[in-house]
Amino acid sequence: MSHPFESYVISVVRPIQMTTREERESIIKESHYNLFQLPADKVMIDLLTDSGTGAISNHQLAGIVSGDESYAGSESFEKMRTVIRELTGLSHVIPTHQGRAAENVLFSALVKPDDIVPGNTHFDTTKGHIEFRKAVALDCTISEAGDPTSPHPFKGNVDLDKLETALKTNPREKLPLVMMTVTCNSGGGQPVSLANIKSVKALCQKHGVPLYFDMARFAENAYFIKTREAEYADWTIPDICREMFSDVDGATMSAKKDGISAMGGFVALRSDDVYQQCGVYSILFEGYLTYGGMTGGTMASIAQGLKEATDFDYLHSRVGQVARFGHQLKEYSVPILEPVGGHAVYVDALRFLPKMPRDQFPAQALACAAYVEGGVRGVEIGTVMADRDPKTRENRFPKMELVRLAVPRRTLTDNHLHYVAQTFGNLLRSASTIPGLEITWEAPILRHFTCRFKPRDNK
Ligand SMILES: *Cc1c(COP(=O)(O)O)cnc(C)c1O
Repeated sequence: MSHPFESYVISVVRPIQMTTREERESIIKESHYNLFQLPADKVMIDLLTDSGTGAISNHQLAGIVSGDESYAGSESFEKMRTVIRELTGLSHVIPTHQGRAAENVLFSALVKPDDIVPGNTHFDTTKGHIEFRKAVALDCTISEAGDPTSPHPFKGNVDLDKLETALKTNPREKLPLVMMTVTCNSGGGQPVSLANIKSVKALCQKHGVPLYFDMARFAENAYFIKTREAEYADWTIPDICREMFSDVDGATMSAKKDGISAMGGFVALRSDDVYQQCGVYSILFEGYLTYGGMTGGTMASIAQGLKEATDFDYLHSRVGQVARFGHQLKEYSVPILEPVGGHAVYVDALRFLPKMPRDQFPAQALACAAYVEGGVRGVEIGTVMADRDPKTRENRFPKMELVRLAVPRRTLTDNHLHYVAQTFGNLLRSASTIPGLEITWEAPILRHFTCRFKPRDNK
């Protein structure tokens, strides 16, 4: 295959409302310099997230309108479960309204105070759910993950020595599970290799600790395995998925990612016993076991979305578009995290704003400046999101300070993304005038969603 053109045509569109710089200057102020507070119609190109923002297909739409809305035993649930079983080999499926709800159900059954949950840079809601239970999310990612210029092809990999130390030095009853995120979102959308997955499985088995996946972007991870791990070059994407999940105890899924759905999620499990424990929490928090916070239509749409997301031609154009976007940013000399991940390009704010102190939130400052400059919305993945240490209440300073530009699935053309690259290129020339920020109000947990800022007066 030469040029990776989109594996679909666009049949329904939504207009973009144009804004001026003057309008955006007052909107960002009214939104307290928090991009989550912006009215979406005041954003021209929204790269806040790839979560629930993908364009659905005609077949998914057909699923939505023909969903079986039975309270119990819905045929649409059955359809969804069949596809999940085919792709993962996990026999039990508990539907939930989104990914964090799946975490809530699973961790309610498995995680207790003082437990330790090792993993590869847990996603923020995963970490939130672990810390909310007074347990510890222990990051065991390879050290290359913290270096934005390291070309390592699988920067989501788990450091096996770190993991083994964690498994050896803690009592078994304090280790309810290991959580591997594929691809690793907080680490830059970086994939995990099948070789690493197999080694982690072996370590978990040796120490008798269950292994779970946070599988939100499992299909993109499978694409990277196929294209970067020579052994699997001739395998199909569904075969790679089955190999990834073999011997894994279960998974949590946000179907808003590789389910290409506006809403939805699930827990998939191998053990009857864990299924029964989780079922109690599912009914309590989410709904009955065959809908769990989703409509039948949503479940039918997810069944179809999972099939489309694991189609090689789709993945080739999807991951290819994100890579081209990264390449364009580089052509404008914008420092980015490399290699480019599966769903997003991450701008390196520490190299973009080298003089700004960390406690002035350089990535947040840059994300706000990009909105004012071009009406583009990204999201900070840095000190604001890293939140305070739950015990000391001090700011945590992660290794990297990034602005994530997430690309919604099947929604934007390369032209839109070229404009975004140009916006960051323009900003780079006046980078020294971008003001740092200070926090004026914050919530006690997951502060980044609602936190308020004001610009520092650096004079
Ligand atoms: C989005 C996401 C979640 C949480 O899912 P929601 O559907 O947003 O609740 C968990 N893990 C990862 C890796 C994600 O990307």
